[in-house]
Amino acid sequence: MAAASLYWCIYRRNWISSYYFLSLDIFQHKASTTLSFQNISIKSIHVNSIFFGLFILTSSFSTDADNSSIAISKHLLDSVITRIPFVKQVLVIPCILENNLSTVCYQFSFNSNPIADGPYCPKTLDNIGGLYNYDGITNPGFQALKRQFFESMENDGFDIVDDEGNIRISLPKNTDSEFNYCFEAERDDSLVITYTIPVFPTDLAVPSPNNTVFDMVGFTLNGIPIEGPAPSVINGAPLPDGGTGVAGNVPAIDPCGGHVDPSGYYHFHMQPETINHVLKKNNIYDVFCSNVSQDSYALLGYAMDGYPLYADKDLPGMTQTKYDQCNGHFGPTLEYPFGVYHYHASNKAIPNTPPCLKGASAKHSFSIE
Ligand SMILES: [Zn+2]
Ligand SMILES: [Zn+2]
Repeated sequence: MAAASLYWCIYRRNWISSYYFLSLDIFQHKASTTLSFQNISIKSIHVNSIFFGLFILTSSFSTDADNSSIAISKHLLDSVITRIPFVKQVLVIPCILENNLSTVCYQFSFNSNPIADGPYCPKTLDNIGGLYNYDGITNPGFQALKRQFFESMENDGFDIVDDEGNIRISLPKNTDSEFNYCFEAERDDSLVITYTIPVFPTDLAVPSPNNTVFDMVGFTLNGIPIEGPAPSVINGAPLPDGGTGVAGNVPAIDPCGGHVDPSGYYHFHMQPETINHVLKKNNIYDVFCSNVSQDSYALLGYAMDGYPLYADKDLPGMTQTKYDQCNGHFGPTLEYPFGVYHYHASNKAIPNTPPCLKGASAKHSFSIE
């Protein structure tokens, strides 16, 4: 058990409030993550017990009157921190949300690629790889990467199978050659992924849709990014400049709904904990997810707007209430017994992630180093 180190630096400017910077080295001391915080209010912090290295700084930032009531409760911190066992570091920092609200955010850092992945592209027409949602003309839909998928692509004019029946497999890159490829990227397990999410979720006037790979949905409890729908095969991947990549390539996803980004980090385009239900409901029987345990009730992670992400079911015995357009609702959960707005993964939709986020995400919410 590390000795507590508590460090204050108070700096005030007129009426300006203080913010709190909290660094918890949970990675090294996760066995004793029993942080006990009473309210951290704008003028005082009461730390009941600290069992590992802790650095607290209060400083100043411009804020509006609403922030004078900022309070980080014991429940909130406990709920978040103790539920994320693989986090490398947690900070509480000032942040600005996409609706321009100045507030405080958690900043979670994780090591990349905490789980095994694959398979992705099958070597030949006679093998079975992962999954993809084909949006061509012949036999479209979410399906296993096997003979029928690639023959459909060939039928639609793509050349992704060679004369010997081998699938053309390549590292993901914007190839402009005459051939099409099934893409597989290489893992880089040395990356650090950082998420910034609001401590106090704030609803947007209109929910923000999760339509493309650039729409970050959230992250799993072990720190894997959950992104919007995987790119179109026939149109190519969208590019940050608004254009699209080369059409006709398949950035294969594995049976748990994830794959490796060209920069080396594994991420999901589906929520993996309910994916085997999704596969069955879509009549896919030759591929199943074994790298992620299936769980219909669990807290799965957090959305970028700060609301929790749950699997497809509420607590056993609870009456199911209607979900909104983002597949979310307000209600009690195991971790939030007094009720919380939360999203549910679908057990049949593709993708099974929330179609929109009700709350505002932070600006600069996701980074990789
Ligand atoms: Zn992706
Ligand atoms: Zn629920």
